[in-house]
Amino acid sequence: SRTFWVGGNWKMNGSVAAIKELTNTFNAGNVSSDVEVVIGAPFVYVHLLSETLRKDWAVAGENCYVKASGAYTGEISPEMLKDVGAKWVIVGHSERRNILNESDEFTAEKCVKALAAGLKVSLCVGELLEEREAGITQQVVERQLGAVVKALKEEDWANIVIAYEPVWAIGTGKVATPEQAQETHAAIREYLKTAVSPKVAAETRIVYGGSVNAKNCKEAAQKPDVDGFLVGGASLKPEFLDIVNAAQ
Ligand code: 13P
Repeated sequence: SRTFWVGGNWKMNGSVAAIKELTNTFNAGNVSSDVEVVIGAPFVYVHLLSETLRKDWAVAGENCYVKASGAYTGEISPEMLKDVGAKWVIVGHSERRNILNESDEFTAEKCVKALAAGLKVSLCVGELLEEREAGITQQVVERQLGAVVKALKEEDWANIVIAYEPVWAIGTGKVATPEQAQETHAAIREYLKTAVSPKVAAETRIVYGGSVNAKNCKEAAQKPDVDGFLVGGASLKPEFLDIVNAAQ
């Protein structure tokens, strides 16, 4: 009974005008009430989006810092995100891990601070192409998750959604097959069983991200351990509504 979860991650895209237009489209969309929907927007648009987006959907920041306030020029705290209406934050996206060189430990600390501020966390993990080809996908994902497991208490996991996003599938049009997604999601769930608890393993949503679109989402949504999606490019288009309804 894991509620299906679909997130949009707009990344560094959008403008006031484009967001108003897309929000109008989303707000007019007919979507199932059985789906939890979250839209991640660039920091500067979080407030606008939280005031205009339909109230049955939530807003996320795409990142956060690990302090509530202070002399950290250019950073944004979880408390600030909450103040402007965000309910969620995306943590550990591969673009932060690989372009901004953020470590597993820093990512784990962000989870701790975001949860403490009352935000829910979409925690991203996933392997590079060379790691998949070397056959170490599971080791990589367990290393990334392991830092977070170490930092959290068991009850914290109720406010975490894990997004499995193989880096080779992000923005490439090379979607993982439903079988590849299912295989890694099942392995992550098995890992959670021993690393955290059987209850957390059974209850934590594990969603897939990487070149998800309206066409390829339906089959993946049927897999037993695929509990939703984290969508990049297609979340900037009306087709996002079809992905929200993928499990219907
Ligand atoms: P794309 O859907 O554009 O491949 O991006 C996936 C992603 O990184 C979501 O966080």
